[in-house]
Amino acid sequence: MSLKILFSARPGLWDDYEAPFRAALDEAGIVAELGPGVGPPETVDYIVYAPNPDLRDFAPYTRLKAVLSLWAGVETIAGNETLTAPLTRMADPGLKEGMTEWVMGHVLHHHLNIGHALARQSGTWEPYVPPLARERRVAVLGLGELGGAVARALAALGFDVSGWSRRPREIEGVRCVSGPDGLTEALAGAHFVICLLPGTPKTESIVDTAALGSTAPGAVLINPGRGTLIDDDAVIEALDAGQLGHAVLDVFRTEPLPETHPFWAHTGITVTPHVASETRPTTAARFIAENIRRSEDGKALLALVDRASGY
Ligand code: NDP
Repeated sequence: MSLKILFSARPGLWDDYEAPFRAALDEAGIVAELGPGVGPPETVDYIVYAPNPDLRDFAPYTRLKAVLSLWAGVETIAGNETLTAPLTRMADPGLKEGMTEWVMGHVLHHHLNIGHALARQSGTWEPYVPPLARERRVAVLGLGELGGAVARALAALGFDVSGWSRRPREIEGVRCVSGPDGLTEALAGAHFVICLLPGTPKTESIVDTAALGSTAPGAVLINPGRGTLIDDDAVIEALDAGQLGHAVLDVFRTEPLPETHPFWAHTGITVTPHVASETRPTTAARFIAENIRRSEDGKALLALVDRASGY
């Protein structure tokens, strides 16, 4: 039997995804009509979803078996009460690899103080010896698919890594703490703070003045999670006071980051335009095809969103 799979995303994305999706569905043995228009809502079996202002009301999709998000962050859809079918997030291997590389690059840049050499290329011979990784404390906030991979990679390089999650976790080589009290413990004396929490009501402005006050003076904040995780003013104040030495910010409350936002002009901030880890069409299409296969076979879905927790 042929399924109907609606691809609902901003215009243009379909061009990147059509070929990988057709290949992935073939590989998974799924026969489907697939695309941005597949007929009336009540005939659609699955929706492959990326934030799309044109699709807010899922009620007409009466036959829907699941909505499969192309993105890992689902804050724009998790609370949608018109959606009663299961919702899954993206958790493909490409996303983990990309995020690990991006975070490692920025941590190592600051750990080795590469900026010191870049600023002296005009002929200033001024040696600088960085500490070893094991002398640096790193706090990874969020120990899920991405935070867990990042914490493991940093620990493998020798960094002294603490990780924080909602529920207790165990990761070899990482001091794992959880719950509200665990946050201060994870941040205590941290030289690097990496935010890989989802954007939910519970994580709103979790990196505030009090949290930043727990880190080592001159710490580096790296936020590839969501813009809502940090209190923007608190970050600027901590930078100006020297409590933070630098902030690398990839995600923002408003994206694109408005030209007038003070983050752009601050010399202590590196802005990157939400590129920490892109969903890669080939691996993402395989992940979604596998989930459709599992759904059709009556198996548990991968990366199922807990709607009550919002991630
Ligand atoms: P997961 O759902 O796998 O992990 C989320 C982690 O955050 C879990 O460890 C979870 O705890 C923890 N957490 C959630 N709420 C709380 C809380 N209230 N207190 C303490 N810990 C909490 O997500 P991923 O690792 O896949 O992705 C993380 C985020 O990264 C995404 O939600 C998205 O916003 C962002 N992202 C950014 C990208 C970019 O390019 N900038 C690309 C992809 C993702 P527990 O383990 O107990 O569930």
